[in-house]
Amino acid sequence: MPQKKTTTKKVSKKPLETGVAKKKKEGNFAHPRGMRDITNDTFYHYQGFFEKASEIAVYYGFRPIETPILEREEVFTSGVGEHTDIVEKEMYSIKTKGGDALVMRPEGTAPVMRAYLEHGMHTQPQPVMLYYYGPFFRHDRPQGGRYRQFYQFGIEVLGTSHNIADAMTIGLMHRMLLESGLKHLSVLINSIGCKSCRPGYVRDLTTYYRRHIQKLGLIDRERLKTNPLRILDSKDEATREINAEAPEAVAHLCEACKEHFSGVLEYLDAMQIPYHIDHTLVRGLDYYTRTVFEIVTDGAPVNAQPEAVAEVKEAGKNEEGGTTEENPVAKAEEKVEEKVVAPRLALAGGGRYDDLAKRFNSKRDVPAVGATIGVDRVIESSEFSPHSPRIIKKPKVYFIQLGAEAKLKSLEVIEMLRKAHIPIAHALSKDKLSVQLATAEKLSIPFVIIIGQKESVDGTVIVRDMGSRSQETVPTSKFADYLKKKMRE
Ligand code: AMP
Repeated sequence: MPQKKTTTKKVSKKPLETGVAKKKKEGNFAHPRGMRDITNDTFYHYQGFFEKASEIAVYYGFRPIETPILEREEVFTSGVGEHTDIVEKEMYSIKTKGGDALVMRPEGTAPVMRAYLEHGMHTQPQPVMLYYYGPFFRHDRPQGGRYRQFYQFGIEVLGTSHNIADAMTIGLMHRMLLESGLKHLSVLINSIGCKSCRPGYVRDLTTYYRRHIQKLGLIDRERLKTNPLRILDSKDEATREINAEAPEAVAHLCEACKEHFSGVLEYLDAMQIPYHIDHTLVRGLDYYTRTVFEIVTDGAPVNAQPEAVAEVKEAGKNEEGGTTEENPVAKAEEKVEEKVVAPRLALAGGGRYDDLAKRFNSKRDVPAVGATIGVDRVIESSEFSPHSPRIIKKPKVYFIQLGAEAKLKSLEVIEMLRKAHIPIAHALSKDKLSVQLATAEKLSIPFVIIIGQKESVDGTVIVRDMGSRSQETVPTSKFADYLKKKMRE
């Protein structure tokens, strides 16, 4: 196992409240906790990542799917499991006026399996390989790298039990992270067996934990009754010590599961993907069988997001906006530092879920495997290297119009430029030449086109080169070609 890195990242001490947040007492119009407005470069980072990951997935033979943001509650209570954190504590549930119980999707695998079954995708050539991305919602305590609305990119391979699908899924997630600049990665992997060998393992585990019950915290004692496997990923320090000696799943695997697992590892070796077998890795969802894995950061710090800092600071205040501790901001910052630099952060995770279809009353077995990347965490990594989204068009021309006639023509001119693939910036609501020219200057845009009263009557356009300050009057019908030529010079 790699060494834990202990360096911390200083968070800014600047006040982070927005104007809207400051007005809290008069009426709170701020964004909900754990959710954000994503703008400017950050927006492009997300968009670029989604495009790159989609491209990689498409080359590997995946096709896109988009499922609704809202699903029936049963998709998660039956699919993910009633005694999981997601279902017990974290779902945003909605009762519609018609009486339906809907949930804002907390994860993507159960909805994709629901869609596979609903559309009879078993009639298509198997496996069906799907990718998706978008927002997911979990009502958890917001902190560094954990939001209530977060973004995932996921892949699912449905209709195959072959272990090459497990290896490809892990390899693809790993590849997507590498291509985004992340270098310090560890693949943690485990096998939690199938319905024939897991009960024996859970029995052994239960016996073991009963022997240590005095040392278990309340939550873990409860888990002993509902889902003993979950004790293995307990955050409780005392439980973690007990876990170090706990029976290991791989020692309880049946022959078929053993063979499956060793095959996955062989494929990983062949792909030269280093991995660690982590006996305490079980992942929090009930639908997993056999392979489970996570890709974690290996010491690379994650950049503190102002939002995370603000959330923790907010948590240190009482209702009146006062404070609950002597120096709560300093305390909050300490807390953020602890969280933000947590040396091992899961960037991606997934596994096999051969029994999920049965949880949806499917008559047929649909063996499947899938995984998701936590896109927020990738983008916040100090190692992240952004991909340029295809749609970004840096304006090369600033369009200035003067007078009512010119304003009337302006939309027509913008459309002509769009057809000629020339991205522009403009301030259509402004009237003064000096204001518009100053903006063009400020944005460092190389060319300006100007239509005034005279030009709009003559059917011409003034094209000004901002570098040389030279300008020329060109007929409207020719100015797009003229501009393109100038831009190539
Ligand atoms: P999970 O669906 O819980 O297996 O999570 C898959 C990945 O999504 C994790 O490894 C994280 O990178 C990311 N993730 C999960 N929950 C959150 C959250 N609340 N905020 C940000 N990222 C998350």
